[in-house]
Amino acid sequence: MLLTADRVIPGPADAEPIDHGAVLVDQGRIARVGRAAEFGDAADRLDFPGHTLMPGLIDAHVHLALPGDGTPFTAYAQDEPPGVHMAVAIRNAATALRAGITTLKDCGGPHTLTFELRRAAEKGYAQAPHLHLCGRPLTIRGGHCWYFGGECGGRDGVAEMVREVSKQGADYVKAMGSGGGTPHTMSWLPAFTPAELTRMADEAHRLGRRLAVHCLCGAATMQALAAGVDVIEHCGFITGPDTPQRFDPAVAEAVARAGVPVCPTLSVGDTVLPHLQGRDRDRWERMLAENLEQTSQLRAAGVRLIAGTDAGWRFTPFDWVAREMAILQECGLSAAEALASGTHAAAEALGLDRETGCLAPGLAADVIAVPGNPLQDLTALRRPAFVMRAGEVIVDGR
Ligand SMILES: [Zn+2]
Repeated sequence: MLLTADRVIPGPADAEPIDHGAVLVDQGRIARVGRAAEFGDAADRLDFPGHTLMPGLIDAHVHLALPGDGTPFTAYAQDEPPGVHMAVAIRNAATALRAGITTLKDCGGPHTLTFELRRAAEKGYAQAPHLHLCGRPLTIRGGHCWYFGGECGGRDGVAEMVREVSKQGADYVKAMGSGGGTPHTMSWLPAFTPAELTRMADEAHRLGRRLAVHCLCGAATMQALAAGVDVIEHCGFITGPDTPQRFDPAVAEAVARAGVPVCPTLSVGDTVLPHLQGRDRDRWERMLAENLEQTSQLRAAGVRLIAGTDAGWRFTPFDWVAREMAILQECGLSAAEALASGTHAAAEALGLDRETGCLAPGLAADVIAVPGNPLQDLTALRRPAFVMRAGEVIVDGR
């Protein structure tokens, strides 16, 4: 199948767009990319005048099993049965895919649910993006998201849990390096000990997997870096239960020096605000402003930023990564870098760049067509006219 459009954006931030470009797809893979004039006649040809062809989007931080409708986390995770969690996950996966998000990194769900969803999708019983999975997030006893079943402790205990999730099908290992939005957890303190985190990273790496660590305070980020983390989630600078965040340039410099990408998940604050009033709203407004400022400062320090929404958490929807990319642009990324943050740069950070994130021969045919030129207006990404995942046409709105 030959796809043509006014322009083709290959994906990497430094790659030049191709005017009047074309993408040739063969057996689910990209066979060739170039100027449309260089391609002969194809029997099977779709033209997208007025549009841009680009790689399918990647949301590098979601929770498929969570509803994203503001339902309190504890009640939902503990009281709803697994069938409800699965129904929600199936709905969310389809929502993301239809929005042009052809790859999702799930950052933690209950027990083996996400592996089961992927299996169902592979069998054709559900429609889902490519799923990059960790299964349960590793957490200390009573730590953030403990309901998902990933509680572990001690050096041998954390290594055993890494092996357990790997056995079940984890592509990477996720750990809660500090508390979070789970009641009675402390987001201003590291959760695991340095020795536990180091053992976890070593075991993940020994088994050929990357380690992503949720860090809401600077001390957790420093501890994760010392352990050899591969991706930092959130990278917050929370200092206490009711105190403002305090950006620490030394932490930003250390992250930049280590070359570890950060996924700041700014959509959570952005989407929760319309639902809040009074003191709660004031608190979240302050947090969002701090997070935007901190992300700008991380960027200025040279930290690699990738787009992830935390979809499922609080009010964050599953078709939202284009908005996250736009927020990253507001934090100082160029338009090309913002596009890459949700395509090629994200694929690199996840270790998926030989499979997706880019329009290049040999990669999966994950392709979207969006109106106009997204380099001039990122909101175009919200309205894909065409979505293809591994060569399969999911949306054709011509
Ligand atoms: Zn999350």
